[in-house]
Amino acid sequence: GYGNFQRDRSQLQLAIIFLSLAGFAVFSSTSLRFDFALPLPDSVRSITAWIHVSFLAALLCVGVILLQEGMTVDSKLRRELRSAIPRQQFELFFQPQVNRDGRLVGAEALIRWKHPKRGYIQPGHFIPTAERAGLMADLGNWVIENAVKTLADWTTHENTRDLVIAVNISADHFLKQDFVSRLIDTLNAHQVSPSRLKLELTESVFVTEVDELIGKMKVLQHHGISIALDDFGTGYSSLSYLRRLPLQQLKIDRSFVRAIAEGSRGASLVTRISQMGQDLGLEMLAEGIENDEQFQFMLSCGCQSFQGYYFGRPVALETFEERIRGLIKPSYQ
Ligand code: C2E
Ligand code: MG
Ligand code: MG
Repeated sequence: GYGNFQRDRSQLQLAIIFLSLAGFAVFSSTSLRFDFALPLPDSVRSITAWIHVSFLAALLCVGVILLQEGMTVDSKLRRELRSAIPRQQFELFFQPQVNRDGRLVGAEALIRWKHPKRGYIQPGHFIPTAERAGLMADLGNWVIENAVKTLADWTTHENTRDLVIAVNISADHFLKQDFVSRLIDTLNAHQVSPSRLKLELTESVFVTEVDELIGKMKVLQHHGISIALDDFGTGYSSLSYLRRLPLQQLKIDRSFVRAIAEGSRGASLVTRISQMGQDLGLEMLAEGIENDEQFQFMLSCGCQSFQGYYFGRPVALETFEERIRGLIKPSYQ
């Protein structure tokens, strides 16, 4: 139960643990007897008692070893993560986002941890630990600061002046009281137009009071910052939520784009999802485009923007800029 709770910190998992404990307390203190039950002969009873005790002892040992291992790995990672910001071990990678003509319109900033021993670590391997350690706001502020600095730098070049950078914002960070004021201060400090920054939120922000969430999003929108809903279709967002939230863009999750090749059911699902977004008046971005067939299909669904390995993988800032300046041939125009 504890192991499951570590993986999925839900009320259901907590309830399972408490029910098991309560069940144990109730059954061990009640003397239930059934008339049809016959006592085991002593010769069998002595063997099963040994098996029972040995099994419990083994189970206890395995449990303790697993817990200890989990704790040491996690706490080591936490300690390293805490010092990674001051040690400047994080880096932003950029992945191109293109329009229907295949022209570059912006980039998504994706964080990488440049670990001194393990090399580049993908976000999937450290963000869950950072979330548990309550580090996402610090990490998010670092991401915003660096993305805005890059935007300021891009203002001075003709090819990059109009590009928009999308940053991923975790729920923890977005729900902080001073999130909006800090963001605006950062944009002002670097004299960057808010219209060049896009925030990508996932449905995890819906945990909060929806009116409060809408209020915050409206303030951001009022400042000219656009908001995209990331990984759309993988969560539980109801249509009534979607209608009420001041969003500009839906990012169709790559699992749907992959489903196109799986036959007519996958393809019709993607068509309907795109149609629904358009009916709601939202811009649609298709994520995870890996080949021309997927690009053509999502074009035919009416999507306005595209992102995926077909147009370019996430790369370090320097490489991204070299591609824009035409030093390396990119797959977008
Ligand atoms: P995401 O925001 O949905 O980002 C897209 C992920 O899909 C990226 O993985 C990207 O490398 C990958 N991807 C893009 N195109 C393709 C494709 O054509 N095929 C396939 N198979 N994959 C593709 P990455 O960089 O490992 O990031 C994973 C997730 O980590 C992101 O998903 C995002 O939720 C989170 N993340 C990344 N950077 C940040 C950050 O700075 N802050 C926060 N809060 N989360 C971040
Ligand atoms: Mg994203
Ligand atoms: Mg996504």
